[in-house]
Amino acid sequence: MMTEQARPAEAHRVVIVGAGFGGLEATYRLAGAPVSITLVDRRNHHLFQPLLYQVATASLATSEIAWPVRYLLRGRPEVTTLYATVTGIDAQARRVLLDDGDALPYDTLVLATGARHAYFGHDEWEPFAPGLKTLEDATTLRRRILVAFERAERETDPQRRAALLTFVIIGAGPTGVELAGTIAELAQDTLPPDFRNIDTHKARVVLIEAGPRVLAGFADDLSAYAQRALESIGVEIVLNQPVTECTADCVVYGGHRLETKTIIWAAGVRASPAAEWLGAPADRAGRLEVLPDLTVPGHPDIYAIGDTVVIAGPDGKPVPGIAPAAKQQGRYVAEAIKARLRGGTPAPFRYKHAGSLAQIGKRKAVIDFGRFKLRGALAWWIWGIAHIYFLIGLRHRLSVAISWLWVYARDQRAARLITQGSSKVAR
Ligand SMILES: Cc1cc2nc3c(=O)[nH]c(=O)nc-3n(C[C@H](O)[C@H](O)[C@H](O)COP(=O)(O)OP(=O)(O)OC[C@H]3O[C@@H](n4cnc5c(N)ncnc54)[C@H](O)[C@@H]3O)c2cc1C
Repeated sequence: MMTEQARPAEAHRVVIVGAGFGGLEATYRLAGAPVSITLVDRRNHHLFQPLLYQVATASLATSEIAWPVRYLLRGRPEVTTLYATVTGIDAQARRVLLDDGDALPYDTLVLATGARHAYFGHDEWEPFAPGLKTLEDATTLRRRILVAFERAERETDPQRRAALLTFVIIGAGPTGVELAGTIAELAQDTLPPDFRNIDTHKARVVLIEAGPRVLAGFADDLSAYAQRALESIGVEIVLNQPVTECTADCVVYGGHRLETKTIIWAAGVRASPAAEWLGAPADRAGRLEVLPDLTVPGHPDIYAIGDTVVIAGPDGKPVPGIAPAAKQQGRYVAEAIKARLRGGTPAPFRYKHAGSLAQIGKRKAVIDFGRFKLRGALAWWIWGIAHIYFLIGLRHRLSVAISWLWVYARDQRAARLITQGSSKVAR
C-alpha cells in the first residue's frame, strides 16, 4: 500500500500521470514550487519517441533513446516516482486509481498519458500490421524486418521470397516516411554484403497513403521533394489509396492485393482513455477537450496535456500531437499551478509552433518553419543536430552522434539484433 513519503505534510500534492514529454516537463518546471509531486508511469523510462523508428530499423539501440525516470529525477527529493498503471480517477474523492487497487490522493492532478496507434475500427489488423509507440513495438518491428531477410535467404520459392522481401508501410506522415526511407537504405546499402542467396537490392519498400500526398502536414513543395527523394532510393509510393485489408500474407488497397510478410502501421492515433476516466467530452480520436487553461471542464483541479487532449491553436486548427506541443503544455501547467498557489489566475495557454522536421534517408531531410523552409543535405544536418540537442544527457548525445556518423560514413547499422526468441520462433 502507498505510504506517505518523507515530505512536508502541508505541501500541496500534485500527482502527474505520464512521464512522457508533457508530464516530465511539468515535473521539471515545478522545481522550487511549494508542492510535493508524485509522478506515475506504467513504464520505468522516459522515451524519445521521435527516434523510435531508428531502433525499429536497427540504427540505434533501445538504451540510446530511453532513460529511467527515477534516474532523471534523482536530484529532486520532493518528487516521488511510481512505476504503476492508472486505471481511473475518482474525481469526487480526488484520488487516482491504480490497477492493483491502490489509490493516490491529490490536490492537483495532471494527466499526460499520451496516445497509441489506432486502426480506424479495424483492431483485428494490429497483429499483422503492428504500430510504433513503445520500445517493445520498436524491437518487435526490428525483429520482423530482420527475420524477413533471414527467411528470404533460405526460401527457394520465388513468389514466397518476393513476399518476404516486400515491406509495406501504411501512412505517409513523418513516421511512415522515415521508416520507408530507412528500410530502403537498409536493403540498398547496409545488408547487401551480408547475404549470399538473396540480393537485398531487390527488396521492395511500398509506402501506402490514403491522402493525396506524403507529409501532408508540410508545405506542398516540401512534400513533393520528400516524394522524389524517397523514390530516388527505391521507395514505391501509392497515394489516394486507403487500405481495406491487412492479413498475415498481404495488404489490400483499391482492389489490389499485395503479397507481403511485413506490414507496418503508421497511420492513425487514438488518445489514452483519460477522457473516459473522467466522463469528459472528447473528439473522435478520444482526445479530451480541455478548457483554454488546459483544465478539464467541471474539474478545475485537473489538468490534461499533450497527445491525450485537443485544443485549438492560435490559427484555429488543433494543436498538433508533437513533442514540443506537449512540452509547452507541461511548462504552462507548471506555471499555472505555481500562479494559483500564489492566489493568481493564469492567462490561457497559447501554443507557439516552432516548425516541423522529417528525415528522408540518411542524407536528406525537410524542415518547415513556416516562412523558412529547407530541404536536402543541410536540412539533414539541422535535423540531426536538433534531435541530438533534445536528447537527455551527454552520454546519449555522444552515443547517438557516433551511431549516426557510422551509418553516414559506412552504411553500417550496428543494432541488427534479432531478439525475443531464437530462429525456431522466428515467424
Ligand atoms: C513513432 C513516433 C514518432 C514521432 N516523431 C515525432 C517527431 O519527429 N517530432 C515530434 O515532435 N513528435 C513526434 N512524435 C510525437 C511525440 O512523441 C508525442 O507528441 C509526444 O510524445 C506526446 O507527449 P505526451 O507527454 O503527451 O505523451 P507521451 O510522450 O506518449 O507520454 C505518455 C506517458 O504516459 C504513460 N502512460 C500512458 N497511460 C498510462 C497509464 N494508464 N498509467 C500510467 N502511465 C501511463 C506512458 O507510459 C508514457 O510514458 C512521434 C511519435 C511517435 C509514436
